[in-house]
Amino acid sequence: MRSARSVYPEATEALRADIAGQVFIPGDPSYDQARQAWQLTVDQQPAVVVEAASTADVVAAVRFARSQGLRIAPQGTGHGAAPLEPLDSALLLRTSRLRGVRIDPDNRTARADAGALWQGVTIPASDHGLAPLAGTSLLVGVTGYTLGGGIGWLARRYGLAANSVTAAEIVTPDGQLVRTDPEHHPDLFWAVRGGGGSVGVLTALEMLLYPVPELYAGVLFFPVQRAAEVLQSWNEWVASVPDEVTSIGRILHVPPLPTVPDQLRGRAFAMVEAAYVGNEHTGADLIAPLRKLGPEMDTFATIPPPALSQLHMDPTEPVPAVGDGALLTDFPPAAVDALVEQVGADADTMLISIEVRHLDGALRRPEAYGGALPALDAGYALYGTGVAATPEAVATVGGQAQALKGVLAPWHASYTYYNLADTPAPAQALLPPDSYQRLRQIKTSHDPDDAIISAHPV
Ligand SMILES: Cc1cc2nc3c(=O)[nH]c(=O)nc-3n(C[C@H](O)[C@H](O)[C@H](O)COP(=O)(O)OP(=O)(O)OC[C@H]3O[C@@H](n4cnc5c(N)ncnc54)[C@H](O)[C@@H]3O)c2cc1C
Repeated sequence: MRSARSVYPEATEALRADIAGQVFIPGDPSYDQARQAWQLTVDQQPAVVVEAASTADVVAAVRFARSQGLRIAPQGTGHGAAPLEPLDSALLLRTSRLRGVRIDPDNRTARADAGALWQGVTIPASDHGLAPLAGTSLLVGVTGYTLGGGIGWLARRYGLAANSVTAAEIVTPDGQLVRTDPEHHPDLFWAVRGGGGSVGVLTALEMLLYPVPELYAGVLFFPVQRAAEVLQSWNEWVASVPDEVTSIGRILHVPPLPTVPDQLRGRAFAMVEAAYVGNEHTGADLIAPLRKLGPEMDTFATIPPPALSQLHMDPTEPVPAVGDGALLTDFPPAAVDALVEQVGADADTMLISIEVRHLDGALRRPEAYGGALPALDAGYALYGTGVAATPEAVATVGGQAQALKGVLAPWHASYTYYNLADTPAPAQALLPPDSYQRLRQIKTSHDPDDAIISAHPV
C-alpha cells in the first residue's frame, strides 16, 4: 500500500477529470476541510479525499483506489470516525453530497442515498404519519448508523434499524455496483445489516417506515444529588412498561455555555428521557410513577416524530468529544451505585453525559430474517462522553470514559454495541460469535485484500 505523499499527481488529475465530485490531496488548499470529520478530536490524514457527487463517482473512486494500491474508507458525516484506524494509505470516500431521499407512503418505505442524514428521512416521512427508526440525533448519517445496528426512540417497539433494511446498493471492492436484497447477493445483504460497512461502499439504503399516529415523549429533570434514587426508580419502572416505551436514564453535567437555556446552564441533573408510541392519556398513566418522584422540570407532551430529536439534546454542531460505551446484561442497585459514585454529584468528572438506555423488547427478539446483528442480547446500553479540546483533555476524558466502563464491568454483556464503541475495537468484540464467523467468511470472499476500512475491522 502507498503512503500519503506517493499518489501520482497525474493519476489524481485523471480522476478529477473523470468524476463530477471533487478530489483533494495533501497540500491542496481545501484538503484540511475535506478530511475533517464531524468528530473534531479525530485527525484523519488520508492520501486522497474524494467527495462523490454521484453513484458513478463512487464506482470511479473505488476503481481508482484499487489501481493506486490505496485502501478505501467510506464516510458520510464522520460522527463515527473515532475508532477508525489511520488512513494514511487510504482514500477517504466522502458521501456527504449524496443526500437524495425518496419516501413511498403507500408502501411505507424510504430510499436514502448514502450521505443522507436522518433529518432527510424523518421530516418528510412525518408528513405521512410515518417514521423511520432514527436515533436520538437527526444529524447522524442514515448509513453508518444503520450499518452498526441503530438504536432509536422506537427501538423497543420496532427493533434495530438494521432489521428494517429491505435493500442496499453497494459498490463492491472490485468496483462493481450491485443491488442487494433477500434474493440478490444475500450474503452481502446479510453483512451490512449490523455488521458495519466492511464489504463495500454503500450508495443507497431502502428501509421500512412505521405508522406513528401518536407519540407522547419528554424528559423529567431532577437535581443530580438525587441520581441514585432516580436511576434506581427508573430501573424498577422499566421492568413494568410495554415495548411501546423506550427510555434512557441519564446524568447530565450541562456545560456553562451561553447557547444553553438559562434553567440548564452550568447545572447537573439526573434525568429520565422516554418516548411512548401511543396517546397522551395512556402515556401519562405510564409515566405517573416517575412523576410522583417530583421532577424539577417535566417536558412530556404529544409530539411529532421529528421532535424526538430534542429529547436527548445532542450537539448540533461538530464537537471535540471523547466517549465510549458498553452493553450491560443488567443494571441492579449495585450498578446504579457504582455509576453514581463514578459520575454523580460528588464525582470529579469531565464526562458531560452518562446514559443508560433500556433495551429488551423488540431489540432482544432475534429477527428471523435479520442480518449480522439480528438482536441485542443485553438489557441496557451504557455510554459516557465529554468534551475534550486539547490532547491532555482527550487523555483525561478518555480515561474517565474507560473508568466508567470499568466500574460496570461486572455487568458487561458478552459483546458490546457497534455504534457506541468509540475506541478502536475489532468487529469480533461487537457481534455474537456465530455472526462474526459468518461476517469474516463473507469479508474474506468479497474483499480478500482488505481494501475496505470499516469503523471496526473484520
Ligand atoms: C451525537 C450522536 C448521537 C448518536 N445517537 C445514536 C443513537 O441514538 N443510536 C445509535 O445506534 N447510535 C447513535 N450514535 C452513534 C452513530 O450511530 C455512529 O457514530 C454511526 O457510525 C454514525 O454514522 P454516520 O454515517 O453519521 O457516521 P460516519 O462516521 O460517516 O460513518 C461511520 C462508519 O460507517 C461506515 N460507513 C458510513 N458510510 C458508509 C458507506 N457509504 N459505505 C460503507 N460504509 C459506510 C464506515 O465504516 C464509517 O467509518 C450517535 C452518535 C453521535 C455522535
